[in-house]
Amino acid sequence: MGDPRKIAKANTATTSESKTDWDRLSLTDTPLASELAHDMELLSRVQAHPVPRPAQTRIVAVANQKGGVGKTTTAVNLAAALAESGLRVLVVDSDPQGNATTALGIERVEGMPSLYDVFLGRKTMMSTLRQNDKYASLLVVPSSIDLAAVDVDLADADDRRTRLKVAVDSLLLELEELDRHIDYVFIDCPPSMSLLPINALIAAKEVLIPVQCEYYALEGLTQLLRTIDSAKQAANPSLEVSTIVLTMASKNTNLSAEVAENVREYFPQQTLDTVIPRSVRIAESPSYGETVISYAPRSSGAIAYLAAANELANRGR
Ligand code: ATP
Ligand code: MG
Repeated sequence: MGDPRKIAKANTATTSESKTDWDRLSLTDTPLASELAHDMELLSRVQAHPVPRPAQTRIVAVANQKGGVGKTTTAVNLAAALAESGLRVLVVDSDPQGNATTALGIERVEGMPSLYDVFLGRKTMMSTLRQNDKYASLLVVPSSIDLAAVDVDLADADDRRTRLKVAVDSLLLELEELDRHIDYVFIDCPPSMSLLPINALIAAKEVLIPVQCEYYALEGLTQLLRTIDSAKQAANPSLEVSTIVLTMASKNTNLSAEVAENVREYFPQQTLDTVIPRSVRIAESPSYGETVISYAPRSSGAIAYLAAANELANRGR
């Protein structure tokens, strides 16, 4: 034990020192304060611009053959953010990994009707539809691990590239007849250039590319753009890359900012102003079968996806 008088003196000194430091700091100079200020700014932007309902259903393929860049996270959270704003949204999980299905709270049970049955022509897409339990206006076509076999199963089918398009278009028509117009469809693609993403690029009207804020961010994009071009020429002339979303940005490195700048140089029109930060809440929400929008609505991750969805909707098409 030390001398209590000395300890008291030392504490006083520390207190007065930190007070001086604190006085010298402008509140916005602290990382936490500037983060809060940034979130408040995003929120006020969201509140200032209501989310419009698109005149026609927007069918968006979320694609990047690079793995782990935030395709699924972006698809489910934009979908939830739009559903939160009252829009009707459909997520088609076209990845055998099924991450979008589980992130949207749907347990994958063997034998349950899935997109695989639709590809094989065994079921209508309508009969595979599931509803998210947090947002009634968010529907899901679940994936199954069998989807990995689609390339082989459909190798000899002439219509193998257009099956998803036919299924999505007829589902939208059927829902329309039931007075259930869908505003947005997000097709979550696997990290490959197989038949599944090709089907998505033919079914979609636009492509959204998540780009991770890391050193090799643009690597592989040329190949993706080439594939998009061939889908455009072969079967979908109006297809366009409408949106680039920068994901997993770290606040504490210059690298993310440099990558963002670089991506904006290549895609000045398409890149959203909103950048999705790296966030623990975003990463942990799928393990609860939830999107970050419902799991941690006030977190910076949720606010960023709400702002990104708002921007996507207001940019329109
Ligand atoms: P795949 O190519 O395998 O389909 P993907 O492109 O769909 O991957 P995600 O699954 O969305 O990528 O994300 C990859 C991992 O990074 C996941 O564990 C996810 O939870 C995490 N992640 C995504 N976005 C963020 C973020 N903004 N902050 C923290 N973690 C994130
Ligand atoms: Mg994924």
